[in-house]
Amino acid sequence: MKRQWSISLRLTLWFGGIFFLGWLLFGVAMWWNLRHTLVNERYGTLARREERLEKLLFAGQSHSEAERLRDFAGFARATGHGLCEILDERGHPAYPVPNGEAQEFPWPRVKNTGAEQFEQVGGAGGSWWVLGRPFSLGNEKLYLIDAAPEEDNRVVLDRFLTGLLASIPLLLLISSAGGYFLSRRALLPVDRITASARTISITNLSQRLPVPHASDELQRLSVTCNAMLERLEGAVSRIRQFTTDASHDLRGPVSFMRTVAEVALRNPRIDSDSRQALTDIVEESARTSLLLEDMLTLARADADRAEVALVMVDLRCVIEETCEITRPLAAERQHVFFIDLDPSRNFRVLGDFASLRRLFWILLDNAVKYTPSPGRIEVSLSSSAHELVVAVRDNGIGISEKDLPRIFDRFYRADPSRGQVEGSGLGLSIAKWIAEMHRARLSVASAVHSGTTFEVAFPAYAE
Ligand code: ADP
Repeated sequence: MKRQWSISLRLTLWFGGIFFLGWLLFGVAMWWNLRHTLVNERYGTLARREERLEKLLFAGQSHSEAERLRDFAGFARATGHGLCEILDERGHPAYPVPNGEAQEFPWPRVKNTGAEQFEQVGGAGGSWWVLGRPFSLGNEKLYLIDAAPEEDNRVVLDRFLTGLLASIPLLLLISSAGGYFLSRRALLPVDRITASARTISITNLSQRLPVPHASDELQRLSVTCNAMLERLEGAVSRIRQFTTDASHDLRGPVSFMRTVAEVALRNPRIDSDSRQALTDIVEESARTSLLLEDMLTLARADADRAEVALVMVDLRCVIEETCEITRPLAAERQHVFFIDLDPSRNFRVLGDFASLRRLFWILLDNAVKYTPSPGRIEVSLSSSAHELVVAVRDNGIGISEKDLPRIFDRFYRADPSRGQVEGSGLGLSIAKWIAEMHRARLSVASAVHSGTTFEVAFPAYAE
């Protein structure tokens, strides 16, 4: 399954992760550096101590053996933990070990008394750094060896590590919050572009996306999309112009064909085959004229050239007149035609009588067409505080859920309608446009084999 993480979440995680990793590497490097510094310091301490011992031994060269032993014991007592030894060339103590602690101390094995040796040993209740150095006293080759506890270093390092680990949650929080803030800021123009792109459809192709000021990828994206919209707008406008011109120019020849066929039909001497052919021409050209008329209406609507002046219109009158035309068609198909127009109220809206008659005619004609005989068709008019609602209800074939969202599209016909019922698929597109022109809401509810209800809700005007 594909991950559904937003870009800002992914950027936040990346930012937080990289920041955390960088900080961790920095922390580890600092820890090593600190450790190295502390070890060097230990080395310096031990080296200085041994230098003092060398000086003491030099100064006491002329002393007797007992005096030198006393000097060495005094030195051992005064420095460190008394953990020092003087070895001879073979690696054996040249001077007795000053105290018991030094005797039991786990001195490392001296490998070569001629070279300096600095190492860490464990034992005697902890970990120790030991420095061994060759030293010549007259002809005597000696080796000084000295130890210091590592404990102090460990305390400092542990404290540093604890601080490092304790700051992890805070660091994660700060880096994630910073990452989220930066990604939101960076993606803000994307939200604006998306919101704007969402409002653009075929009806408002002249709208453009906002172009961010910064000359970056998002600016290039907006500019490219705007150029694409411009090309689309040009193409759509050429198609609209073509549709307008074609439907306009075809109306004349089609009605000419129809008139010629009608005139020819008046001739009583034509044979029956020619009569049938001429009748077909008349019917087909009548249908084609209607189709061209519908296409022209929509083309003009698209081009905002269908100017109609809106005046106060009585909805009841419009519906009554439309029902008068529908009644014979419904009777022909044995439908029960039921009209409920609440006579107690005024149903006046701001509109165009002819357009409204066309709108209701489309709904009623569909109800008659898509209801198997004998069916029931109902027209009702009702009102609420804000709306006047015209409902056209039938108990016909219904519309499937799959088709419902598309029936207002141009030339769309649901499967059962194709080939069985005559139509062009333009009626509801025109109905929708007329409803929008009147600021009315055209909605549909339907269930297959149960029937369909179309509702047109007009805003109510206070009179
Ligand atoms: P048409 O010329 O095909 O009637 P419309 O645009 O008026 O075109 O309707 C589009 C499609 O919606 C129709 O083809 C039909 O499938 C479906 N339709 C419209 N009204 C009804 C209705 N009352 N009952 C069932 N289907 C309907």
